[in-house]
Amino acid sequence: MIKTFPKGGVHPPDNKLSCDQKIVRLPVPEQAIVPLSQHIGAPAKAVVKPMDLVKVGDLLAQNNGFISANIHAPVSGKIMKIDDCIDVSGYKNKSIIIKTEGDSFAEGIDISQDLNEEIRLTPQQITERVASSGIVGLGGATFPSHVKLSVPKGKTCDYLIINAVECEPYLTADHRLMLEKGKEILTGIRIILKALDVSSAIIGIENNKKDAITYLETLTKNVPEISVQALKVQYPQGGEKQLIKALLGREVPAPPGLPIDVGCVVFNVGTVFAIYEAVQKNKPLIERVVTVTGKAVKKPSNFLVRIGTSVQQLMQAAQADMDQAGKIISGGPMMGKALNSLDIPVVKGTSGILVLPWEDSKRAEVENCIRCGRCVTVCPLGLEPYLLSKLSQKAFFERAEDEDIINCIECGCCSYTCPSGRPLLDFIRHGKTTVMNMIKQRGKK
Ligand code: SF4
Ligand code: SF4
Repeated sequence: MIKTFPKGGVHPPDNKLSCDQKIVRLPVPEQAIVPLSQHIGAPAKAVVKPMDLVKVGDLLAQNNGFISANIHAPVSGKIMKIDDCIDVSGYKNKSIIIKTEGDSFAEGIDISQDLNEEIRLTPQQITERVASSGIVGLGGATFPSHVKLSVPKGKTCDYLIINAVECEPYLTADHRLMLEKGKEILTGIRIILKALDVSSAIIGIENNKKDAITYLETLTKNVPEISVQALKVQYPQGGEKQLIKALLGREVPAPPGLPIDVGCVVFNVGTVFAIYEAVQKNKPLIERVVTVTGKAVKKPSNFLVRIGTSVQQLMQAAQADMDQAGKIISGGPMMGKALNSLDIPVVKGTSGILVLPWEDSKRAEVENCIRCGRCVTVCPLGLEPYLLSKLSQKAFFERAEDEDIINCIECGCCSYTCPSGRPLLDFIRHGKTTVMNMIKQRGKK
């Protein structure tokens, strides 16, 4: 039976233009720009200095606290400088700039494609390896993975959920990874089960990836602890809360509530592959699969890309037509961020680069709210987006807090569906950030 979440959601056109394109390794860039903050939590602290020579996989920056992540050299070469560079956030952030020389890997990293299914590390060693390898959530959240593996005292986990939904239109990186690295992903799941001491894992996949569902069902036929569940094609099926509700009927509490509060730990399928590589191959997170797609791209593609490669290089490889390009987005069209430069580097959280043509890039003319209630109908959290947006716009933040603005998962369903073209999410995001800061300040008093 196909499952889904019960409330709201929309169904934008899939546009999975690159779903049949095999993952292709992109050439190593001539220069890598490696931001020190590619994860949720404190930026990492540089442990290299200009003129140092590094090999691929050498530690560049040390995690700076429990919620932080190590960063490793994605190329071999010379550290040129540590400087402020614009990253995907649109702001300047400290980054390490490496001029590439050759492509030699640090000792101990297994770069062969051989499958290694025998898990030798103990649970504690797995968590330590995941931490030292700088693994973070590759679905876009970039939450350090070792933190999720360390279940807090007093909480228990009985289900590992693998988020293989990839519900954002256009993106196909996870889909290709499942088709091409299914056995490695299964080993990755077994590694996480061992680390968490849990005996059940469910892989949730949207039903528009039937080949991946069939393939993983075949692979798990004799693996009783891992099951595959097809999910209805409905955005935001891949939201953590929606996924857990759809698979298990459990309700994750409002923030600061987490999946572990209802006995679940959720990992994106790309993260599972990165964990496999870290634990079985001793390979830190130095590259990832990125979809480069859109109607202004001649060759929609899935590339295996070293971190620090410029968006420009990806665009050239996919033959983006710059005369046609009206907007370039990091991520998908629903939750992605518009880029203001092509010199921005690929980071751990870059799942896709979407190049939209001019005609799809224009915002609709903003008109008055006609009180049609569509934004309320599609909100998967049962919020009242027109009201939250108005309260944020008028700076009535206390009232917005009372209306549960911090529950908003920023899925964009409300803006997508509004017939008056109102930029609801833009205002709600501003209001949510302000309310979160108010709550933080209150906690300090
Ligand atoms: S209010 Fe937030 S959660 Fe609700 S539809 Fe809008 S963006 Fe999504
Ligand atoms: S969908 Fe747009 S027009 Fe309709 S109630 Fe919401 S804000 Fe108003």
